[in-house]
Amino acid sequence: MIRIIRGDITTLRVDALVNAANRSLLGGGGVDGAIHRAAGPSLLEACRGLNGCETGHAKITRGFNLPARFVIHAVGPVWQGGGNNEPELLRQCYLRSLHLAAEHGLKSIAFPNISTGVYGFPKADAARIAIHTVRTFLEDPRGMEEVTFVVFDPENESLYNDLLGEASLLK
Ligand code: ADP
Repeated sequence: MIRIIRGDITTLRVDALVNAANRSLLGGGGVDGAIHRAAGPSLLEACRGLNGCETGHAKITRGFNLPARFVIHAVGPVWQGGGNNEPELLRQCYLRSLHLAAEHGLKSIAFPNISTGVYGFPKADAARIAIHTVRTFLEDPRGMEEVTFVVFDPENESLYNDLLGEASLLK
């Protein structure tokens, strides 16, 4: 099942929420900052032990003070015009996050709109890649039951509504 929720990803009680992290995994602005604030300083401590993460890859920690049990730290590509493998790297972020969750026996996962903030990935293209990757994964879901796309800004909200259908929107 795929659903859309508008709002703050840090409030969701899911098995794993995905962070749009940077390669240091040591926190940043946007959704990354919000997740670290809500999880508390133990999350930063856990991230220090991970030695960063390459673009297109993902690593997992506990969720600490978040309602979510785990955080999957995925590093999206910085948009550099599209000639630097950005679409494939974004696809790998979603796919690796899903596989990591499934390997840990998790059944629900929530994604922010990775790379569409400070990293500047065009939102419509990013939404199509995200939805296509999740739909393809769910053909063989490996125990995954629910994937939530969390839309935070009005442009992403209308893009995801158009691509998935208004019926999936929960507020
Ligand atoms: P990136 O560096 O990967 O672009 P950003 O955090 O700048 O990451 O933005 C990614 C997306 O997360 C943007 O669409 C932004 O609107 C959204 N966002 C920011 N704060 C939150 C939040 N608390 N919950 C969910 N999404 C958020």
